[in-house]
Amino acid sequence: MDANKMLYPWGHTRRFNAYTDYIRKVFGGRVQKLSIDAGFSCPNRDGTLSTSGCIFCNSEAFSPSYCLPEKSVSQQLEEGIIFHKTRYRRNQGYLAYFQAYSNTHGNLHRLQQLYEEALHYPGVLGLVIGTRPDCVDEAKLDYLAHLSENRYVSIEYGIESCYNKTLNLIARGHTFDQAVWALEESRKRNLNTCAHFILGLPGESREMILEQSHIISQLPITTVKLHQLQVLKNTVLEKMYLMESSKFKLYELEEYIDLVTDFVEKLNPGIVVERFTAEVPQRFLVAPDWGLLRTDQILERIEKRLEEKDTWQGKKQRIL
Ligand code: SF4
Repeated sequence: MDANKMLYPWGHTRRFNAYTDYIRKVFGGRVQKLSIDAGFSCPNRDGTLSTSGCIFCNSEAFSPSYCLPEKSVSQQLEEGIIFHKTRYRRNQGYLAYFQAYSNTHGNLHRLQQLYEEALHYPGVLGLVIGTRPDCVDEAKLDYLAHLSENRYVSIEYGIESCYNKTLNLIARGHTFDQAVWALEESRKRNLNTCAHFILGLPGESREMILEQSHIISQLPITTVKLHQLQVLKNTVLEKMYLMESSKFKLYELEEYIDLVTDFVEKLNPGIVVERFTAEVPQRFLVAPDWGLLRTDQILERIEKRLEEKDTWQGKKQRIL
């Protein structure tokens, strides 16, 4: 059979289990995420664990301009809808994306108020909640499981690496075991989960990065977000990079495409891939500079490389 026409296990002919198709299956059409900054902090910044943050983090770089914590959740949703309406006219609805910092790092009562305000907003079909694995507990997960009986709920865990040595080096303040616990407890409650990983963290060889694909494949994850290591301005990583750039392996675009296509061919085909790369405004970026290519243009090149290699997600999955 012509591999270009092959129907893969996820039910379409793209060579990876794409998030856009997953969303279409779940909601029957296009759904837009609307970012919200609800004024949370994170234990790595507010002094609970540390005040200096993860070495790569510049949270400003990831927040759209309409997200300001001074505005209510409803106001941010309203402005987000107006912002996206002119671009995407065929939306089925919206997902309220609690994105900035750790959005379960607060008491349960406060979380309930914020999430329920979002779910009551017209057109909002569900919640996507970005957080850290050590910022959930059984009571919070039970509450989210209760919400998910009627609405879509996904918890997006920043995990970043499967190696404790790396997590220590990047000052995450949690272990990989804590991430596994959070994912397993979420799965027990039928919650959707997204796991976020950075490929190319300091100290990780190409082999170590690729081995993570096998480890991730065993985890109870609905979707995964992958992105290249970027050195951003005003971060500890920037200082480290400027002092000893020779010790850093930052992936250039072509090398990264090669890496991420090798990564995805080892990945469990049941895991949906939300994204392969990150994009930040140029003003925040120190390195690597991939030029002005948009995410969709890079995705096209990744799909082309999968075709050239005649490979696809899960082709080399390790079966235990
Ligand atoms: S990456 Fe997340 S956990 Fe780390 S400092 Fe930034 S907001 Fe906090």
